[in-house]
Amino acid sequence: MNATAIAAHTLGTPFDNSYARDLTGLYVPWQPQAAPAPRWLRFNTELARQLGLDAERLSGAEGLAIFSGQTVPEGAQPIAQAYAGHQFGGFSPQLGDGRALLLGEVLDPQGRRHDIAFKGSGPTPFSRGGDGKAAVGPVLREYLISEAMHALGIPTTRTLAAVATGETVRRERPLPGAVLTRTAASHIRVGTFQFFAARQDTDRLQRLAQHVIARHDPDVAEDPVPALALLRRVMDRQAALVARWMGVGFIHGVMNTDNMTLSGETIDYGPCAFMEVHDPDTVFSSIDHHGRYAYGNQPGIAQWNLARLAEALLPLMGTDPDDAVAQATAVVNDYPALYERHWLAELRRKLGLTDLGDDTGDLALANDYLQLLHTWQVDHTLGFRALSATLRGQPEALAARFGTGQTALQAWLVRWQQRLALQPLPATEVANAMDAANPLVIPRNHLVEAALDAATHEGNLQPFEALLAAIVRPFDSAQAGTLWAEPATPEQQAGYHTFCGT
Ligand code: AMP
Ligand code: MG
Repeated sequence: MNATAIAAHTLGTPFDNSYARDLTGLYVPWQPQAAPAPRWLRFNTELARQLGLDAERLSGAEGLAIFSGQTVPEGAQPIAQAYAGHQFGGFSPQLGDGRALLLGEVLDPQGRRHDIAFKGSGPTPFSRGGDGKAAVGPVLREYLISEAMHALGIPTTRTLAAVATGETVRRERPLPGAVLTRTAASHIRVGTFQFFAARQDTDRLQRLAQHVIARHDPDVAEDPVPALALLRRVMDRQAALVARWMGVGFIHGVMNTDNMTLSGETIDYGPCAFMEVHDPDTVFSSIDHHGRYAYGNQPGIAQWNLARLAEALLPLMGTDPDDAVAQATAVVNDYPALYERHWLAELRRKLGLTDLGDDTGDLALANDYLQLLHTWQVDHTLGFRALSATLRGQPEALAARFGTGQTALQAWLVRWQQRLALQPLPATEVANAMDAANPLVIPRNHLVEAALDAATHEGNLQPFEALLAAIVRPFDSAQAGTLWAEPATPEQQAGYHTFCGT
């Protein structure tokens, strides 16, 4: 049962489908499967308004028909995008949109371009035996975590709509099905380049690079070697992104090259989760047996993925292959220093430090604090959030987190105070800036699971709604003392595992 286009149905703003227009041969035109009995899980009215869509109309029956694949809106040109990817280090030459479809692109009132895409809308030529479907739990999980990331100010794809399909999907057990509508600056991945590089299809590779440059980095088009300049840009965006992840304790969980965007947005919320107690070895994903994508490995994995992007771009870097390799290698080798700059900036924001030009001292100070959090098994989020209160003369909350580590904590606080004294800012101003950098509320794993369980097994969306309302205000001090701001108990944290959501 495939959807038919009905002209009356629109998003309230015209589509302008540059990927479909520019890049024939890089995708397959395809149609979503119509959900048999759709029911709203949630419509993101705020995001719809930001995109310039007709939020009022789309939040009703018409939106339900569109976001369940029953009607394809006027101007949409649904396509399944081709991509490849390194998954856990091994190369798969053909992945692609196996359960996703790009409906098309819209321009928001500021003229920014956004992809509007489905996830879970049925099988495509890239499904490789999969059913092309998604379940209510993983769809709501992506909704929660992507909106939390957005509220934290971290570049991310977003969730416009989540609809239950009325269908049962078969996983380890039968689960209610759902479709997610995702928006993104683009869905172009490192793996999109790898797909055409692996086929030695330099023409399509070139067209893809031109498209990405026009879309995300128009100013590098005039560079002597645009592909090299593009690589630098992507590297900078990814270094900045991963530094932000590390700051809030976010673990992506499946940093395969097909899950890394050229735009620098976080994408593909599968087994992701936020770390509670600070520990670089933290891994939640049930399939990440060797901890390849552990919290502390993420900056290095980003560089590994960028090296794969560099390889894919080599054919576009001039006619002398040795020269191309040398130039691309030099760019990728800059990554550790680049990442460290972004990470230091993030740590300074978290510790209320302005840049006095003394790199080594601040990084060492921050690293020592991270080490303390690890040693004394302190919650990453609250270990940072509670620091600002010490500047307001309320050291108790932080001290309570450190248990028997008081001597070590006090020694570090003295060093931090000495460093703060070097910058001429009143303590309250520093404390306020820190509270805008260190969230009080993150999507705690036990609360996420409880919300998804209630939605999946009881059809009860109330816990999901309540959690969503809390996580979109992550810095709001009014949430102190609520259950949203409390870490899981050690029993709740022990053995927590996430699944890829396929
Ligand atoms: P992911 O692990 O979600 O990043 O997906 C990796 C690849 O598997 C992509 O090509 C997906 O389109 C594909 N895939 C994941 N789940 C399904 C599914 N249920 N049906 C078909 N393809 C899928
Ligand atoms: Mg993926």
